[in-house]
Amino acid sequence: MQKQKIDWHAQAAAMQFDGRAFINGRRVAAQSGATFECLSPLDGRKLTDAARCDAADIDAAVAAARAAFEERRWAGMAPAARKQVLIKFADLIMQNRDQLALLETLDMGKPIRYSRSVDVPSASRCIRWYGEAVDKLYDQIAPTADTALALITREPVGVVGAIVPWNYPMIMAAWKIAPALAAGNSVVLKPSEKSPLSALRLAEIALEAGIPAGVFNVVPGYGHEAGSALALHMDVDCIGFTGSTKVGKLILQYAGQSNLKRAWTELGGKSANIVCADCPDLDAAVAASIGAIYFNQGESCNAPSRLFVEESIKAEFMAKALVMLPDFQPGDPLDEATVMGAIVDSTQLKTVLGYIASGQAEGAKLLSGGVQQRTESGGYYVAPTLFDEVNSSMQIAREEIFGPVLSVIGFTDLDDAVRQANATTYGLQAAVWTSDLNKAIQTARALRAGSVHVNSYDEDDITVPFGGVKQSGNGRDKSLHAFEKYTELKTTWIRIG
Ligand code: NAD
Repeated sequence: MQKQKIDWHAQAAAMQFDGRAFINGRRVAAQSGATFECLSPLDGRKLTDAARCDAADIDAAVAAARAAFEERRWAGMAPAARKQVLIKFADLIMQNRDQLALLETLDMGKPIRYSRSVDVPSASRCIRWYGEAVDKLYDQIAPTADTALALITREPVGVVGAIVPWNYPMIMAAWKIAPALAAGNSVVLKPSEKSPLSALRLAEIALEAGIPAGVFNVVPGYGHEAGSALALHMDVDCIGFTGSTKVGKLILQYAGQSNLKRAWTELGGKSANIVCADCPDLDAAVAASIGAIYFNQGESCNAPSRLFVEESIKAEFMAKALVMLPDFQPGDPLDEATVMGAIVDSTQLKTVLGYIASGQAEGAKLLSGGVQQRTESGGYYVAPTLFDEVNSSMQIAREEIFGPVLSVIGFTDLDDAVRQANATTYGLQAAVWTSDLNKAIQTARALRAGSVHVNSYDEDDITVPFGGVKQSGNGRDKSLHAFEKYTELKTTWIRIG
């Protein structure tokens, strides 16, 4: 039977939005009554007003989370029981797939084909995976002398504050809340002011799945108001932050200024992708390099935005790359054929166009794109942009652009390419393409990044940790390692005899 095509425009027109906070199991306005506008980057239209929460609302959410934790409404449930609830949460996310996908696309600008096929299923999978894992974890007994028994157990830290960005609103939220909730914590989530709507809906779905009131709260608002209040709060035990390096530095300061809460930071990137002349499959290298930089409008922390290509294959590489670019022309995000959507807002659009102007001013060669498109829509779209003849001292090679802009740098000496690749404040991801096993391993070892790909880019699995080194942050999301962020080790000594 042929699948019936969804009329996304009709669905969008009929959509009801609710931008109120979700605290202690209920939708509430900000205590001050203040709101901010949620504008759609698709066409600039207002979707709804969201609660502009501040310190008073954060206090209320943290108090609700603390009470739920102290009463052990969730932490006191057996891991197998929490598992059942989290699996139901994951199931309900998939049952609400179209609605959540549409919210994500309208609020943030990514194509509906991806919010429906990537973002919603990935968030659901993440929650299911941590739910399934949590009743299979064992603690330890230390190898002490016979006269004592020393138990090493993991306990939830208590109240976790999660602060997330707008580029993958639901997935970033899931990476924080899934391990934190599975471990038995209560959570206060502060979504980005640019994309709060899907997280707010997730909180309703969590309650429906059986997560007790107060355990999962979502508080929309600005970073300098709600975000800082959460990170500075004296009764928050841990902050899981994903966002820019600039704000990550503030988060660490807030932790020090307040109660020394543990603070985890997943920050920006300027990832290097090195293609050697002996790369095993040039077509695959071109497809992966181009696909990964333009996916999500280039608004990915791990986007391979610096491409190093060995001079002897560079002309062939660039010719193949240019052929692919028309596939990434921005289109209507509500059209299922569109692969590149809108930039999140007018501020980010200006930032991206500013970097393009800087690349031109500093002498990089603009091979394609470089302009705003679909201006008649009222939204914010940028053509896939390709710069050649970039050098590592240019601003476009040093700073995270967070837009569909690729900087290509030629090289003749691999050691020098690796030196340039590492000459950045960031260290999130990197890649090397070569048929030579020794070269692959030596280069992967030399690249300073949280993940290195060999002959691929953007391999991804929930079982594998994700995070960076240097100013790309600390800590790891995903995999069983994420439990380390949201649990404390406790030692219990028992005297024998
Ligand atoms: P951002 O740092 O501006 O904002 C992130 C979050 O922090 C938002 O919720 C924001 O409201 C909040 N915030 C802002 N100021 C704050 C303050 N003073 N106190 C507390 N909270 C504050 O980042 P963004 O523009 O939303 O997201 C883009 C950035 O996120 C990029 O640098 C990208 O690389 C990074 N990112 C990293 C990862 C990763 O896993 N390493 C994943 C996705 C995005």
